[in-house]
Amino acid sequence: MIQFMLQHQSANQEPLRNAPEEFVLPDVAAYLNGNSLGLMPKRAQQAVQAALQAWGEDAVAGWNTANWVGLAQQAGDKIGRIIGAQPGETTVADSTSVNLYKALHAALALRPERNVIVCEAGNFPTDLYVMQGLAAARPNLVLRTVDPDDVEVALDDSVAVLSLSHVNYRDGRRFDMPGITRAAHDAGALVVWDLAHSAGAVPLSVADDGVDFAVGCGYKFLNGGPGAPAFAYAAKRHHDQLQNPIAGWFGHKAPFAFAPEFEPSAGIERLQVGTPPVLSLAALDAALDVFLEADETALFAKADAMYAKAHALVKAQLEPRGFTCISPPPEANHGSQISLRHEHAWPLVRALAAESVVGDFRAPDVLRFGFTPLYTPLEAVETLVETLVGLIDTSAWDKPEFHAKQRVT
Ligand SMILES: *Cc1c(COP(=O)(O)O)cnc(C)c1O
Repeated sequence: MIQFMLQHQSANQEPLRNAPEEFVLPDVAAYLNGNSLGLMPKRAQQAVQAALQAWGEDAVAGWNTANWVGLAQQAGDKIGRIIGAQPGETTVADSTSVNLYKALHAALALRPERNVIVCEAGNFPTDLYVMQGLAAARPNLVLRTVDPDDVEVALDDSVAVLSLSHVNYRDGRRFDMPGITRAAHDAGALVVWDLAHSAGAVPLSVADDGVDFAVGCGYKFLNGGPGAPAFAYAAKRHHDQLQNPIAGWFGHKAPFAFAPEFEPSAGIERLQVGTPPVLSLAALDAALDVFLEADETALFAKADAMYAKAHALVKAQLEPRGFTCISPPPEANHGSQISLRHEHAWPLVRALAAESVVGDFRAPDVLRFGFTPLYTPLEAVETLVETLVGLIDTSAWDKPEFHAKQRVT
């Protein structure tokens, strides 16, 4: 009872004092696309301005004076706190796709006697493409693509690596990370989790869950800005053996010794490759502070409250109007997004945008709405459902301009 009251109480509190004031809020009725691009924290803007100023005033000296050279590790450890890693197990570099390639290569090298990667058929396409590319480049490697319910039965003694997205980008299903990691280890395999839709959206404890490798995005729920660099986590127990497929100078143990032979850094830095993108890193690093200052329990309680409310309103008001909710019920494992299927999903998303309700479309027929507890108000859920009800009941979504295609959906 006491626990219930505490949870209930925290769900009604803002997880961060003045949280919305930390962000530059676009002039829209509801921004429900933080799972694609998080909003801009004011501190990120200030940090980029400071980095530009240091560039102007200090020029090359900024690598030392402004600690540009330490920024990837600083931001990496901040993300490490968010995903439940130990210090020194997370770094920031490259994109999620590239980090996934590096992590898969490293994991495969740790299981040389095995030749299968298991993944989920409905994984995010870039994850599938990266794995297909790896398989095409290695004659022996087999990609075993299975339905989400068949992951555990696919784990036999030929499996080197199980690679899954923790929260599915399309429908928001969430895998049981500790349970599936344990099953993979019991079968002698390693796990690589993609946390693109998890980091900043759901509680994570990669170290306690025994996760081997993880990767994820800086620009979604972590609000690092468009094209923000991604993160990569590797459990400390793997660091000595960890092979980065691209041996670059920033992964060297002493980049500025300019030695002719590659010798990897002893720690997670060995997943680095080249010069870090300082301006993007500055934005991400500052954005992470906003997250870390929030009360995490209240934050995720708020996310859960938004999810439960959205689910209930969708069932009551949108399913009778031709929508199908494809996200799990609130009591099941889920992310911080709700996805609806509708035969006119694309024009509906465009019509919503015209009403300044921002969600997105995922081919062929899914409308997707993300809840970022840091800045999405609970009322945004009502705004979304009421606007969709209005569009359907008036047929206002069915205008020619809403059917026109766009490059980015
Ligand atoms: C968004 C997303 C990515 C994006 O990868 P980038 O290389 O950063 O473009 C990768 N994987 C998943 C599961 C995603 O949701």
